[in-house]
Amino acid sequence: MASTVKDAILRGRKTVKTVVEEGRKRVEDVVEGGLNTVETVVGAGLNTVETVVVGGRRTVESVVHKGRKTVENAFLPGRVTMRAAILHGREDVRIEQVPIPKAAKGELIVRVGAALTCGTDLKVFRRGYHARMIVPPALFGHELAGTVVEAGEGVTDYAQGDRVVALNSAPCGECYFCKRGQENLCDDLLFNNGAYAEFIRIPERIVAKNTLPVPEHVPLEHAALTEPLACAVHGFQDSNPRPGDIVAIIGGGPLGLMMLHVAALAGYEVIALVKHDGQVEAAKQLGAAHVVQAPNIRKAVQETRALTPKDRGVDIAIEAVGVPQAWEEAVELVRKGGTVNFFGGCAANTRVTLDTNRVHYSDITLRATFHHTPAICRKALEIIAGGRFDASAFITGHANLYELNRVFEKLMNRSSEIKTAIVP
Ligand SMILES: [Zn+2]
Ligand SMILES: [Zn+2]
Repeated sequence: MASTVKDAILRGRKTVKTVVEEGRKRVEDVVEGGLNTVETVVGAGLNTVETVVVGGRRTVESVVHKGRKTVENAFLPGRVTMRAAILHGREDVRIEQVPIPKAAKGELIVRVGAALTCGTDLKVFRRGYHARMIVPPALFGHELAGTVVEAGEGVTDYAQGDRVVALNSAPCGECYFCKRGQENLCDDLLFNNGAYAEFIRIPERIVAKNTLPVPEHVPLEHAALTEPLACAVHGFQDSNPRPGDIVAIIGGGPLGLMMLHVAALAGYEVIALVKHDGQVEAAKQLGAAHVVQAPNIRKAVQETRALTPKDRGVDIAIEAVGVPQAWEEAVELVRKGGTVNFFGGCAANTRVTLDTNRVHYSDITLRATFHHTPAICRKALEIIAGGRFDASAFITGHANLYELNRVFEKLMNRSSEIKTAIVP
C-alpha cells in the first residue's frame, strides 16, 4: 500500500472511496493526504459522514474544520442511538448504545468534541456514585465542549453548527445565595452529566446561564478546560492575593497545577508542593518559582518556609489535594496574617485538627472555595482564549470512548497524566 493517500491518489486511484475501501482505516489521512474537503470524501462515494466519523475521524469538529460548511450534513439522518459511557457502580463503566437525546424546549443537543477526565469523575468511578451529582446507572463525565446539532424551541442564542462549551451546572438565580452573588452555593444547583458520549443534552437552565460560544481559534479540547479552570480561578481570586504575595499550592494534580499556572501568569511567586516526580516538571513548566517535593509534611513545611524571608511563611497557602493532613499542613505554611484556602474537598465526615492559638494569635484567615459561578466561567474561557494560558499542557493524552475504563485505571495508578481528552 502506498505510504500516503496522496501517493495513492497520485498513482492513479480515481476516488477516495477506493482508498478507504482498500484498507485505510482513517479518512482523516485521506483528507490530510490531499483532498480539500470531507465533502469530497462523501461525494466520492461514501454514503454518510457517519462513516467518516466512525471510520476513524475522532470528532465531527475536525470534519467541520476540514471544510464542511455545516455540521448538519455530518449526521446520518434517522440515526437514533449513540455510544455513551454508563456508570453502573464501583469501577463499572460500560460503553453502551443508548438513544440520542432530543432537544426539548430551551435545550441543546451537542455533539461532544472532547470530554476531559477529571479528579471528580475518578472519585465517582472509584466509589460508584456521587452524593450530589450521580446515582447509577447513569451517564457521566462533565467537562466538555462540542458542536450544537439541535437547538430546542425557543433557543435564540445558539444554532446548529455553533461550537460551545456547556458548563456542568447552573444556579437557579432565585434563592438567597444566588441573590447575594454566591451562586456557587445555590440551594438548587442543577448539575449535568453525560460528557463521555457522542451527544449530550444541555438542560434549559444551563443553556440560558452557563453555555458559552467557543472562539474560532480555540480548539474544543481546550475550551473543555473552562470548568476546572473556573474552579481554579475562583479559588485563587477568593484567596485575596495582593501584589508581591508568595503563594504556596499544595498538590500537583490537575487543579493544583491549574491554580499555580493562574497565579504564576498573574505575576505571583508560586511555591508548588508536590508528591510525585512527574509533577515536578509540570509545575516548573507551568510557572512555579520553586518546587518542594519533601518526604513528609514536617520537611515540606520547613523547606517551604525557608523559601520566604526570615522563614516567616507564605502569604497565601492553598490546599488542592483534599486530605486532612494537607489541610493541616496548609495552616502551618502561612505567615502571621496570612490566608489559607482549603480548596480540596475531603471525603464526607472528615475532621481536621488545628492549633487554635496559631490560628487566633497569628490572625490567620481560613477560607474554603467551592465550585464556580457563571461570571467566573466566562472569565475562565477568556483566559483560555487569551493565549498566555498553556491549555495543551493540561491535556496529556487522548483516547477513544471505548478506552475509558483503561484511562481511569491508569489515572488511579497515579501516572504522570494530567487530563485525558476522551474523543467520542
Ligand atoms: Zn471536573
Ligand atoms: Zn440559587
